[in-house]
Order: sequence, then C-alpha cells, then structure tokens
Amino acid sequence: MSAVLIDGRMYAAELSASLADEVEELAAAGVRPGLATVLVGDSYPAHAYERRVRRLAQKVGCHYVCEALPDDAAEADALAVVGKLGADPRISGVLILRPLPPQVSEASLYRALDPIKDIESVHPISAGLLALGRPRYVPSTPASVFHLLDRYLTESGRDPAQTYAQSNLVVVGRSANVGKPALMLAMERGATVVSCDEHSHGAGLLFEHTVRADILVVAAGVPGLIRVEHVKHGVIAVDVGINAIRDSPAGKVHLVGDIDTADVARRAEAITPVPGGVGPITDVWLLHNTVSAARLAQGIGASFPATEGLQLPAIC
Ligand code: NDP
Repeated sequence: MSAVLIDGRMYAAELSASLADEVEELAAAGVRPGLATVLVGDSYPAHAYERRVRRLAQKVGCHYVCEALPDDAAEADALAVVGKLGADPRISGVLILRPLPPQVSEASLYRALDPIKDIESVHPISAGLLALGRPRYVPSTPASVFHLLDRYLTESGRDPAQTYAQSNLVVVGRSANVGKPALMLAMERGATVVSCDEHSHGAGLLFEHTVRADILVVAAGVPGLIRVEHVKHGVIAVDVGINAIRDSPAGKVHLVGDIDTADVARRAEAITPVPGGVGPITDVWLLHNTVSAARLAQGIGASFPATEGLQLPAIC
C-alpha cells in the first residue's frame, strides 16, 4: 500500500475534546443539550450506530434517550414518538436511525421533525436551507467527509479552496442523508461536481466518471464497489460506506467500505480506511449539532467548527 491512510480517529479525538469543552460551558450557563434517537426495528447498522452515539453522548455529558420500537411497529406509532420528542424541552436534537422497516416511511418521519431539532437537516425546510448553502445544521456524515478533506488538503500543504476549484469531485450515491448533502457541500466549495447512483452503474457510466475524479467520495452501501481500475493515479478517495459482512453464516461480523482499500491504495494519493475514517468524525459531529441545537433553542447562537463557505441562518 503506498497511499496515505487518512486517520479519522485522530480528527475525531480533536473535535471530541472541543465538544466536551462546549458542553461544560453550556452546563455553566444552566443548559444541558439532549439527544434523542428513534430506532425502529432490528437493523444491525442502526443498532451499532445507536450504541456509538449513546456512549459518546454519555461521555461528553449530554442528556440522551433512545426511543426503540419493534420491527413491526406501525408508522403512526413512529410518528407519535417523533411528535413527543418535538415537544420535550429536554431534547435539543433528534436523529432518526436508518434503515427503517418498509411500513415506516422515512419521508413521513422527516416531515414530522421539529426543524429546530432536525440536526441531520432532513426535514424539507432544512434540506431546502442546505440546498441554498445556508444550513442550520450541516448533516454529520457529509460534514465529516469535508472536514476530513479540508484537513488533509491543508496538512498536505495545499490551499483547499484552490484545490477544490481545480478538482473534478465525484460523489457516488445520492441519498437524502449522505450523497445529496455531500454534493451541496462540494458545490459550495467550488468543485466541478459529478453525481452518480445505481442508475449510472446500470447504464455502464459509473466508472467512466469515477476514473476522472481528482477527489472521489463513495457512499453507495456496496462492499468493494470501487477497485483500482476505477480510479486515476493520485486520487484522494473518501470511503463513506459501512457494510457489515459475516465471515460465515454464524461467523463474526466485520465492517468493510465501498472501496477496496488495499487495491485502490496502489494508485491513490490518499484514502480513508473503514473502520477508522469518516465514521468516528460523524459521531462527534452529530453531538456538535446537538449542542448547536441546544444553543439555538436558548437563543445563545450556534458554534460550528470548519463549515467554511456556509452561513448559519437565523431561526425561520
Ligand atoms: P442509501 O441506501 O440510502 O443510498 C445509497 C445510494 O447509493 C443511492 O443513491 C443508490 O442509488 C446508490 N447506489 C447503490 N448501489 C449503487 C451502485 N452499484 N453504483 C452506484 N451507486 C449505487 O445509503 P446511505 O446513503 O444511507 O449510505 C451509504 C453507505 O454509507 C452505507 O454503506 C452506509 O452504511 C454508509 N454510511 C456511513 C456513515 C458514516 O458515518 N461513515 C453514515 C451514514 C451512512 P439510487 O439512488 O439509484 O438508489
């Protein structure tokens, strides 16, 4: 492997330290940020994510609740939970964990969120503000992708603004939570942006685009989708994918990304590992957004690390 492995855990540890300071500062002002997760069903990744954010929330001193519903829960029950959390003054931010079982519509739950507590910017109002480049909260996963890229570019002696302006930046995957907001953040930074999804793959166009990427962000949920022949020499590759693979039907679960790391590292300048790349930063960022939501709710203004080029709008 010749590529630089970008260490997300190191960046996450730095952000986590400043987060703990922020929570302490708010506590002195009598404010305790509160995070709620809504967990419907038995999905392994959703449960794994819930455990991680629970641990982190407790570690930094935030109030935390998980509203868990069974796999066969009716959509009306899930909507009632989201409504209850919207009315709960102890809760500053709400995260709806995915995937949801098929009878519960993601879009319906997103619409039911209080936009001020919508720390992932998935409510239509929040998504609109993000599309306009004026998000209240920068969603945690794409924010982490660009935090990591901004830091890597700076630390490798480049001017990030200039580098983005001169880069073809390809995003694979365009979900409402990850791919689409990543496209918005890439556009805000002035990159030449290309979006690919499953249709691009089906049409035989995907690798035509990935091979031209100077910066490649992959969030498809397909293990090992990107191999060395799909990238150009010197690419900076960010692997968002987290796929749980079992060694054997009853075997141990291990996590792999959407990029075949060892293979692509033979051509890449830099690459993020899975685990240990984007994921650890995402967790911390979610808590940062919770703290910002607590500040907004108290009218004491928000603080966001490293969201260059994006303005925080007043509550509207
Ligand atoms: P979704 O399933 O919601 O979206 C996947 C996207 O990828 C869709 O746009 C889909 O296309 C596209 N896609 C699927 N297959 C292909 C393919 N063969 N070629 C090109 N595009 C494809 O997933 P998420 O966006 O929520 O998550 C993506 C991955 O990121 C998952 O592995 C998830 O676990 C991980 N993740 C990691 C996080 C982190 O912190 N690191 C946080 C959140 C997610 P179409 O639109 O046509 O269906």
